Amino acid sequence: MHEISLVQGLFQQLKDLADENSAQKITRVTMEIGPLCGVVLDSFQFGFEILSADDEMLRGAKLIVKIPDVSYKCTECGHVEVIAGPRPEECPKCKDLLLIPTGGEDLILLQVEME
Ligand SMILES: [Zn+2]
Repeated sequence: MHEISLVQGLFQQLKDLADENSAQKITRVTMEIGPLCGVVLDSFQFGFEILSADDEMLRGAKLIVKIPDVSYKCTECGHVEVIAGPRPEECPKCKDLLLIPTGGEDLILLQVEME
């Protein structure tokens, strides 16, 4: 499950941030996880829960996940469908199957609250 190593990487990043700010505890973490970045959200949240429970600095920290919208442009008719969910099966206008996504591939640390 590669989500676990992503969470481990995130924790390292958070600890560096806490050190820089002389914080003792991280209370809330807000992430933006693009629906196309290849991360299984449930696994990521599960990994966060498991690893944070075992970590002095992150115990009890709350994870908030935002899912950004993704634009899918139809190569046939040019229609752009903007949705926050998974890739549409087909263009809602002309039923073409080739839709090109823009965005949604990033895993971004948006905000960290610490004390
Ligand atoms: Zn179309």
